[in-house]
Amino acid sequence: MERERKTDEVPPPHEQRECVVRVEAEHPNMQAGESMYLVQSRWWRQWQRYVSHDEYATPSSSPSMSMATSPTPSSPMGGRRVKPGPIDNTPLLESHGGLENGLENGLENGLENGRTHAEKVRLRSNLQEQYDYVIVHKSVWEALVAWYGGGPALVREVVLKGVQQVPTVEIYPLKLLVVRSSIAGRVEEVEFSSEATVGHVKTQLCKRFGLEEEEVRMWDYYHGSKYALLDQADRTLESARIMNEQKVLLEEKTNEQVEDTEEDNGDVLATSGGSTGDWLGSYSGGFKYGGFGAASEDAVIESKGQRGGLCGLSNLGNTCFMNSALQCLSHTDALVQYFSSKQYLGDINKDNPLGMGGELAKAFGALMEKLWKGGASSISPRNFKHKMARCAPQFSGYQQHDSQEFVAFLLDGLHEDLNRIKQKPYMEEKDNDCRPEEVIADEQWRYYCSRNDSIIVDNFQGQYKSTLICPVCGKHSLKFDPFMYLSLPLPSTKRVSIKVTVISTRGEAPPTKYCAQVPKQGTVDHLLGELGKLCGLKEDEALLLTEVYSGRIFKYFDDHSEALSAIKPNDILVAYRLPADKVDRAGKQYREAVIFHRKSERRKSYLSSERCEKSLFAAPLLVPLHPGSDDLDNELRHVEAAIEVALKPFVLPSEGAQHTNGAEGEMDTEETSENSARLHKSEPAYMICRTNQNGTTTEDFEVVEKSSGDVLRTIGGFFVGKPNPGIEYFALDWSNNADGKYDLELLESPRLHSSMEDALCAERDGKKPVTLQSCMECFLEEEELDKDDMWYCPKCKVHRQATKKLDLWRLPDVLVVHLKRFSFNRLWREKLDTTVDFPHDALDLSSFLNANAGKEKYIYDLYGVSNHYGSTGGGHYTAFAKLPESGKWYHFDDSRVSPVDVEEVKTQAAYLLFYQRRHSEGTEISEMEVDMLSNGV
Ligand SMILES: [Zn+2]
Repeated sequence: MERERKTDEVPPPHEQRECVVRVEAEHPNMQAGESMYLVQSRWWRQWQRYVSHDEYATPSSSPSMSMATSPTPSSPMGGRRVKPGPIDNTPLLESHGGLENGLENGLENGLENGRTHAEKVRLRSNLQEQYDYVIVHKSVWEALVAWYGGGPALVREVVLKGVQQVPTVEIYPLKLLVVRSSIAGRVEEVEFSSEATVGHVKTQLCKRFGLEEEEVRMWDYYHGSKYALLDQADRTLESARIMNEQKVLLEEKTNEQVEDTEEDNGDVLATSGGSTGDWLGSYSGGFKYGGFGAASEDAVIESKGQRGGLCGLSNLGNTCFMNSALQCLSHTDALVQYFSSKQYLGDINKDNPLGMGGELAKAFGALMEKLWKGGASSISPRNFKHKMARCAPQFSGYQQHDSQEFVAFLLDGLHEDLNRIKQKPYMEEKDNDCRPEEVIADEQWRYYCSRNDSIIVDNFQGQYKSTLICPVCGKHSLKFDPFMYLSLPLPSTKRVSIKVTVISTRGEAPPTKYCAQVPKQGTVDHLLGELGKLCGLKEDEALLLTEVYSGRIFKYFDDHSEALSAIKPNDILVAYRLPADKVDRAGKQYREAVIFHRKSERRKSYLSSERCEKSLFAAPLLVPLHPGSDDLDNELRHVEAAIEVALKPFVLPSEGAQHTNGAEGEMDTEETSENSARLHKSEPAYMICRTNQNGTTTEDFEVVEKSSGDVLRTIGGFFVGKPNPGIEYFALDWSNNADGKYDLELLESPRLHSSMEDALCAERDGKKPVTLQSCMECFLEEEELDKDDMWYCPKCKVHRQATKKLDLWRLPDVLVVHLKRFSFNRLWREKLDTTVDFPHDALDLSSFLNANAGKEKYIYDLYGVSNHYGSTGGGHYTAFAKLPESGKWYHFDDSRVSPVDVEEVKTQAAYLLFYQRRHSEGTEISEMEVDMLSNGV
């Protein structure tokens, strides 16, 4: 046992986990230029299991009393967790001879210099994040290698991708499909880093094909058409928006070179062959019929005469997240009107640097048109997906993504593409002090609207107030922010309810079970603080938190900074109320006694003789022992007295009893002395027995009998075999006639404090479903900022752990509600399958609005739900959507569309909710608002 720590400073599993979680928390966002490392998923998952408390098996049946197998605190359930071997990344590699293969396919020319040898090891193609590998930070990789060894190291650089310059780990170099105008129908694959410049690529390609650079023009041959001339030599492929597996055309000079080019000319190559010289004619024909143009259209799969809005979207490989979100958005009434009337074409803002030059809006418009034209039972959103990938590479590829992230991106992208404001005014920020909130809110809203005006703002945007308060000087800071959707936490993601039985060591109160609400990210300290408030802990008292398992104290929570995540819902927690100065268990002079409760159980063995076995029950008592007495008699008397005190709450009033049972005993009152003496003499209610730390009496321990008098009898040597200096162990062997004198039931089922009936407690137990209302309350609840997210108080001039409070100020016509079922960082994902009870009809949010809303009603009806089935990292998305004119609900599962009953819409898979505000109420005020806005600044 003593030798188990000798293994080269590898921290214990939970410390490993904490270390990795900490590093990940310190680096929430990847930075361009950073190096990240790949770790094979299977190894990673084994490690996660190894270091994760979640995987503890809960004991299925009560373990036997056999002490040989009894758990000890250091190894809870034995060896269930398998320590992973060295890191093995070889399954990610193409083949065992990967080093040589890495230099094929033009890689040697395309990749930038300065990469390490190890990196040139070739990855298998089509690897997927999460499924095949996870990406870890450099320090995590280094720690894992130090602990486990193994490899090889697979380093990848973070590059900025897409219009929005999202930091992305470049797992693979870009694969370009090079087409030469002189050789029709042949496509060559060449790889380059997305950071390679256009000039570099052109030079390399010309070298490869033996062409003169001056004789060649290079085209972005997106969808088989001359999309854009690639003539800016210093642009990177990334900034030129060249996608993976995209075609690039090398146009070789012929006698009659046509100089003018037309951009954005979709089908020009296929139709204009005649005008551009002989070679192009034959060439375009070859492509046209070679199927190259087929992918450029959203293909209508089949025609069954379906009505508009009942058209499925086929899955293009893990695109159900997109299909689900698109179905919800495409059933938004305002968007249907706007796009089907082609009104959007007039709003396209080509010059907005934040937009996609209208590409996204046009692709969405085209898709909406097809979905609502009717006639098709499903279409393939291929074109839309391609455009999407060009605008937001984070959604490219064939991995599963989050429908919420997609909705957020799409709404934002559509807004920028359709922003009617061409010239954004600038306004100096004014001091918010000493002006009425309404004035500030209106001013900020107008300012926002003067810079942002689109169909998305008109319908989806609201405003909330965020207040920060300094805990020291009380400084208030007000901000009003626009929102496009509400991300509501499920109550259990923010706070957790932990049940703890508090047992008094001084016999002052019966054992009582409390339900403490604590921050999920909190520590034992948080729990003890909350518990102290609930049980009215006195100044000179402190709580000692323990975990009890089959009648024994299984774990002492000595480290108050321990994370509460270590506590599982089924753990039985007991906190002992001790004198404050006694709680420091490290202090030498302090001693405590653990008092087990034992019952005799008669068991008939089949050899016909009755055997008597003692079994532990209930949570042990804990009593403080005064330091100092080495005298045997004193010691025993002291233990007996302490037990008697601790047992006071369990004493039942004896028949005809007039006295209260004091610590000084029940034997000296004359009226009952006869009776009790008789009872005591016949059989005492309990015997005290010194025992080992498991509560089992062994030969080395002997019995101390509590008699009716004050004489304690001991047998044998009393101090033999003390297992743990500082803690004494005794057992109370309850006799069968104890029932009339002591309330033994109270030992096993403590009183329930009123906190046990709290809503969250009930919700957590599944007795009460979580309501949308309670999610909203949780979202708006005041909370303390995290220690690593402190606020700079302008008055104190230091960072403070401020309290933050959100209030809804202005609600949109279309309210998108995101239920935060996933807790993320890149490596640890958890999903909650909690059922959320949300109304499909008449959701009234009026009461959540600030008083400025006046008498206006905010009543919403559900029209769309994006569902997520399965666990994290994969799973399947579908959608429920309502047809506006019939009010009937349909299930959209990729290409399949089927009618459903409104009652079926509410499931525990619900992930995004789409609500439309009722127009009958409050129309005038909305119009007034519109007027006010259009006349405003
Ligand atoms: Zn302050």
